[in-house]
Amino acid sequence: MDILSTQNNTLPEGSQQLRTVPLVLKVAPKNTASELYKSEERFSLAMRGANDGLWDWDLEKDDVYYSPRWKSMLGYSEDELEHKLTTWETLVHPDDKDRVLEKIQDYLSGRANSFEVEMRMKHKNGHQIFVLSRALLVLREPDKKPTRLVGTHIDITERKKADVFNDKNAHVLEMIAMGRTAPEVYREIALMYEDRHPGLRCSMLELHGNKLLHGGAPSLPKEYCEAVHGLENGPSVGSCGTSTYTGKRVIVENIDTDPKWEKIKHVALPHGMRCCWSEPIKSSSGKVLGAFGMYYNHPAVPNKEESKDLTSAARLASIVMERDQAQKRIHSLAYTDGLTELPSRAYFYQKLEKTIRISDRYHRRFGLLYLDLDNFKSINDSLGHSTGDLLLKAIATRLKDACREDDFVARLSGDEFCIIVEGIDNYSTLNVAQRCLEAIAQPIELLSRKITPACSIGIAHYPDDGEDLSSLVKAADTSLYAAKENGRNQYTFYKPELTLKTEYRFQVEQYLREAIEKKQLTLVYQPQINVITGKIIGVEALSRWHHPVLGHVSPIYFIDTAERIGMIKPLTEWVLMTACRQAVTWKKHGFHNLHMAVNISPSHFIDKAIMPLIIHTIDETGIAPAELELEVTESVAQTDSRNLSIFKDLKDLGVKLAIDDFGTGYSSFSSLKHLNVDCLKIDKYFVDDMIADKKALTLISSMIEMGRNLGYKITAEGVETSEQFNVLKKIGCDNAQGYLFSKPVNANEISTLLEKQ
Ligand code: C2E
Ligand code: CA
Ligand code: CA
Repeated sequence: MDILSTQNNTLPEGSQQLRTVPLVLKVAPKNTASELYKSEERFSLAMRGANDGLWDWDLEKDDVYYSPRWKSMLGYSEDELEHKLTTWETLVHPDDKDRVLEKIQDYLSGRANSFEVEMRMKHKNGHQIFVLSRALLVLREPDKKPTRLVGTHIDITERKKADVFNDKNAHVLEMIAMGRTAPEVYREIALMYEDRHPGLRCSMLELHGNKLLHGGAPSLPKEYCEAVHGLENGPSVGSCGTSTYTGKRVIVENIDTDPKWEKIKHVALPHGMRCCWSEPIKSSSGKVLGAFGMYYNHPAVPNKEESKDLTSAARLASIVMERDQAQKRIHSLAYTDGLTELPSRAYFYQKLEKTIRISDRYHRRFGLLYLDLDNFKSINDSLGHSTGDLLLKAIATRLKDACREDDFVARLSGDEFCIIVEGIDNYSTLNVAQRCLEAIAQPIELLSRKITPACSIGIAHYPDDGEDLSSLVKAADTSLYAAKENGRNQYTFYKPELTLKTEYRFQVEQYLREAIEKKQLTLVYQPQINVITGKIIGVEALSRWHHPVLGHVSPIYFIDTAERIGMIKPLTEWVLMTACRQAVTWKKHGFHNLHMAVNISPSHFIDKAIMPLIIHTIDETGIAPAELELEVTESVAQTDSRNLSIFKDLKDLGVKLAIDDFGTGYSSFSSLKHLNVDCLKIDKYFVDDMIADKKALTLISSMIEMGRNLGYKITAEGVETSEQFNVLKKIGCDNAQGYLFSKPVNANEISTLLEKQ
């Protein structure tokens, strides 16, 4: 800010009184010469008392009288300086001279009715002082010709310096508020205090652990800053090393002789520093964050003002340091994934954006791998989240190990990871993908259970598969989806055709949401047969969706989609309600002892809302609890305590439970023994192989035998041939379900089947 443009600033205290002095004089020309003389005499005495300098410019002779105080203000003695206008002209700051002369002219010509101006003048010692000058005109009677201009000089240097300092202080605070970087603010703080104390040099050091790191010191030589950077603090390590160690101010009057500087004075003395005062910079809670150092090139201890400034400088620096540390902490929280300590999603996107920018500039390619664990959800559901977390941590380590140092591995969310692979001219994404697949597929023991994880990887390249961030990520994600669909545990490179599949997926998501909301799904029922009597003992309700545009969508596909888009709950609610109403209708028509089996997704089963939903369905439809059988997959049949209580609550309610797709998941008989289930549904996979493969037969036989010993009913799924049926009968299977008896059909057809028997 231009300090000389503050003409309108409020005047210093007492200025009102001073202003009245020239007013008295203004009437002076009317008085006699002797009266005028007396008046001046008094004025001069008043000035002397007020410590103001006096000047008197004889406009006719063009010489100027400067009072002794006027001269001493500028460091000159009474007999120095000529009484001429040129004296003032050589002492006034060249940038201010014309402005002052112009003001004088305005006053002399009557354009202005007072004269008051601030200017900079050169002190004999070379520094500059600020002066407030006021004057009044003496007119000659009777022609009113201006003869003299009489004025005062007031030294306003202190006020001006304080103004400048306050402005700078406000500027620093503004910089802090605006979130400017710590080094920028440190620099301003240092310059502000250096400006206030000529010859002073300031430094701010940050304390990291027990190391002092360079923060800011714009006026100290680079070699000195570098030498101090990384220094360990201690009870006698220079001024700042000591103050950060003790938490107390350290005043070193002479670096050369003070024992605290013994070991490090050789880095300071060559640069002229002779004294160093250090104030610890502390956080609001009192923790030492660093140190503020003040240096002079001569031995000294701080005077009162310097001492006060050392305190305020350290306080100001502490605001910056504390904020900076908090910001760094927030940054690291936002930019690292808390669980795996890999870069977070936010960091990934930032890095990807930067990589695209640089690759674009240098016409480089790079690869993006999108990786997702296979079946992670079921591991999480069955073994519990803490085990899932352990697995994710292990996966993160494996991925880091499988990649080069330069590859950027991030965790996006859940079990999704991304890897940015640069420098692919002599290095390929295929190699990385292969190494990741292998590394992840190593068996791992979690909670004394051996798990063999697997993952699927989608690979896209910049700029071939996507020229901007979102299309590149989408391409990698699309390829990942394809890898999953192709049977998982593999990688897939992006191909434009895959986008069509993605579009289909998006459409399904959109239409499905609508279909569930508008209840546009239908149910079919597949009979379950008692192997001995051949009679229908129950049905399994299976959802069907026919969409006018998409046509028939497979339930495996849309159930999976519903889970992904969070629509599985409303879907299940509808299935339960519709199926139970149907069961009650059949009962009313005289078909007794039929049970209704409904599939429940694992994620929904372990949800708190499941119990109220079942109770509500029973109340609403009037189905007997024992006639409702819930089918859940093995993953929830684990000994996770949460799942156990749901099993128990349902049992207490009288609802039946079946383990679906038995034999395909992670469960084992040992985990079943804690659970009160009613039925095991042996997966079609075993039934299929049973005839041709002796081992499969042995397996299925022992499953049946063990299951029955534990008190479960056994249902075989996917029975398609009478050969299979006969074998199942022989090995003691209770019930069977499959195309051999009926495909899933609508309710009317079930009624017909029931009537027939
Ligand atoms: P799931 O629960 O294992 O159902 C049995 C599946 O096997 C049904 O397929 C059924 O049509 C089919 N199936 C039955 N007998 C035979 C056979 O002899 N041969 C062959 N090849 N297949 C047979 P669908 O209806 O396509 O359902 C597939 C899966 O979708 C179901 O497997 C179930 O997991 C899920 N699902 C279907 N409806 C629902 C539902 O309303 N809710 C939930 N959560 N899942 C459902
Ligand atoms: Ca089922
Ligand atoms: Ca099944």
